[in-house]
Amino acid sequence: MSVLAINGGQRAIPEGEFKDLPWPPVSEETAESLKQLYLSRAWSFNSKAEQDFENEFAAYNGAKYGIFMMNGTVTLQAALIAMGVKPGDEVIVPALTWIATIMAVCYVGATPVFVDIDKDTFAIDCQKAEEAITPKTKAIIPVHLYGSMADLAKLTAIASKYNLQILEDCAHMQGGKWMGKGAGAWGDIGSYSFQQSKTLAAGESGICITSNPDLAEKLYRVKHIGYSRYDKQGQAGTPPPQGLQCHNFRGLAMTAKILSDQLKGLDELLERYDQFAKIVEEGIVDIPGVRVQARGRLASRQGYYAFCYVFDGPEWDNIPTGKIQAALAAEGAPTGRTYGPVYSHMLFNLTADQYVIPKGGCPVAEHVHDRTFNMLHWKMYEKNNAELLLKAIRKISDNKKELTV
Ligand SMILES: *Cc1c(COP(=O)(O)O)cnc(C)c1O
Repeated sequence: MSVLAINGGQRAIPEGEFKDLPWPPVSEETAESLKQLYLSRAWSFNSKAEQDFENEFAAYNGAKYGIFMMNGTVTLQAALIAMGVKPGDEVIVPALTWIATIMAVCYVGATPVFVDIDKDTFAIDCQKAEEAITPKTKAIIPVHLYGSMADLAKLTAIASKYNLQILEDCAHMQGGKWMGKGAGAWGDIGSYSFQQSKTLAAGESGICITSNPDLAEKLYRVKHIGYSRYDKQGQAGTPPPQGLQCHNFRGLAMTAKILSDQLKGLDELLERYDQFAKIVEEGIVDIPGVRVQARGRLASRQGYYAFCYVFDGPEWDNIPTGKIQAALAAEGAPTGRTYGPVYSHMLFNLTADQYVIPKGGCPVAEHVHDRTFNMLHWKMYEKNNAELLLKAIRKISDNKKELTV
């Protein structure tokens, strides 16, 4: 008789037991302050609400400056412009990330160079990043994928050895810390997204943080059509440096206010997510051939955008991923999939002369994508979900014979 739900057995996770935290979060208090903000007419142009959030978020991460913008794609673009990355330059990027990381490089006319990832943390492979450096390389964009931190100690050492700049893509990393200091405060610039699904979520918006006053001033001018932070909109001031391409990437006061309020609860939220992660990390050790995405080597606090678990031990070699996924889903477990390598993404439409894949390709990124399942962070809020996930994975493992016949 079959045990697995996919073959007619009972589900490991009964319908409705796996509980999501409703996301994005809402509060009456924030609704009231949004109403006041609306009535105040201070909606943009470096309003107090924007400045407050910039200061709070920079301080939270141990950086000096925050530059608030409309989304986490233009923050990457603005950062590259401020760093002086130009057409003909190369920028090293990990193969496994959201397409925006790569498109930002294209928007400034530079060439993304795809580098493979680390099998355990899913972040850029530092040795391969170093091997991909050429005389044209200007910057590296480590992505703290799903909240597990790239090796910032190694990357900052490589950057100073070759005189490169580091732009941390922290879109998945709200609240994460590396040796006590916030993500984004290690590189020359850190870029965050606050799109609706992220761990701080305001619908849209993003921020760059930096401790370099020159980069901060340039970032501000890039986002505000060339105005200095110290000039008032519409009034005479100092002109932007010659050749600095400036845009309108301004954000909205209302989203900044939502984020200021959410930031107050971030530590507590990450605490809950961390509890979930620890339970699964400990429980999964006994399940042959299944592992979770590893934490960053020196991360003192993990951020969480998604939680990833991987079926890649030899025990699973003969079972296709689709079959494992269907079996897990039938048990009631969440079985999202990681981004594929960017160059295989449906939206990726660069021509061959617009990017580089170094010799040897990115087999680890392809492997990880092929054998990994994930769930977004709001599924990690309830501790009980961790036990349920383990129960489903264990059941599939104990009865994997049913999947090979
Ligand atoms: C979400 C995301 C971005 C872009 O953020 P948007 O605010 O959606 O433009 C950039 N990089 C990564 C890794 C992301 O996940």
